[in-house]
Amino acid sequence: VGLLATGSIAACGDDSSSDSGSTGSDSSAKGKVGVILPDTKSSQRWGTDDPKFLKAAFDAAGIQVDIQNAQGDKTQFQTIADGMISSGVKVLMIVNLDSGTGKAVLDKAKAAGIATIDYDRLTLNGGADYYVSFDNVKVGELQGQGLVDCLTANKAVKPVVAELNGSPTDNNATLFAQGYNSVLDPKYADGTFVKGPNQDVPDWDNAQAGTIFEQMLTSNKNIKGVLAANDGLGNAAISILKKNKLNGQVPVTGQDATVQGLQNILAGDQCMTVYKAIKKEADAASELAIAIASGKKPTTATGTTTDPESKKEVPSVLLVPQAITKENVKDVIADGFVTKDAICTADF
Ligand code: BGC
Repeated sequence: VGLLATGSIAACGDDSSSDSGSTGSDSSAKGKVGVILPDTKSSQRWGTDDPKFLKAAFDAAGIQVDIQNAQGDKTQFQTIADGMISSGVKVLMIVNLDSGTGKAVLDKAKAAGIATIDYDRLTLNGGADYYVSFDNVKVGELQGQGLVDCLTANKAVKPVVAELNGSPTDNNATLFAQGYNSVLDPKYADGTFVKGPNQDVPDWDNAQAGTIFEQMLTSNKNIKGVLAANDGLGNAAISILKKNKLNGQVPVTGQDATVQGLQNILAGDQCMTVYKAIKKEADAASELAIAIASGKKPTTATGTTTDPESKKEVPSVLLVPQAITKENVKDVIADGFVTKDAICTADF
């Protein structure tokens, strides 16, 4: 660490700019939309990217929107929902903290005649009218394949792989694990890789992830690869690897193309991340909400997702994720998600 690896020069030398303008218009005749985001700690996105892109989309359509963040507090989540419901929103969009409390909120909204959208996380048995997310099994597959590629490039022989899964109450974490285990399990089975410690990280808590990974490494000094389900968990593992002077030697995966994650990739401490174009996700979800708030029937949910608990089909929009390594960090810059300055003036 301290030196930029050569691959980073391409990204840091790249020219790119991003711009997103929006114009407001009269919103008095249209319904209001409420959005509840989950926390600001489990990933950079909820405090920064999602609110920015959602607000821009609603502003551009002249639709009044109230975007609030529950800060990881389930009671607070309910309170925000109650407030939005009684303020007369026409559409409620949520990223649940778990399916149980998410369902309670969706039920209340439905009873009040409000349309509901599951944003990014499916609320199991929640019965939302729409679901907008990415192909989350594919996200996991990209992570698994990314780790295989990095370990292969390292010429690692029978490497022990540790897995830091996301929150056990997040249906996405289940789907990510399904994806990466579909890639890793055959490697464990044929002896190419050795299955090491595997643990869920409650609420995607980054601090807890550090403690968990430190214990993993103490009891298994031979860990040679880390499947971390997002950049926050990956960064927690990297911090512990740094403490043990092992960073850069043990590939670590991630997700979300956060500033921290991309910096870790450029520094050579992180093997890959998964870029999910949050602007596209926010645009797809707001497009549905805007149609409903304007009294129109949405036509943009072209697919469906089977709720594994209720077995009901939920009209869906599922977007395609992209694997990012040192070689194509520039794609994330070119898409306007992050600026070159944000990742290249890093203090690493
Ligand atoms: C999201 C990820 C995020 C994680 C932690 C998941 O449901 O899909 O993008 O990293 O939650 O917030």
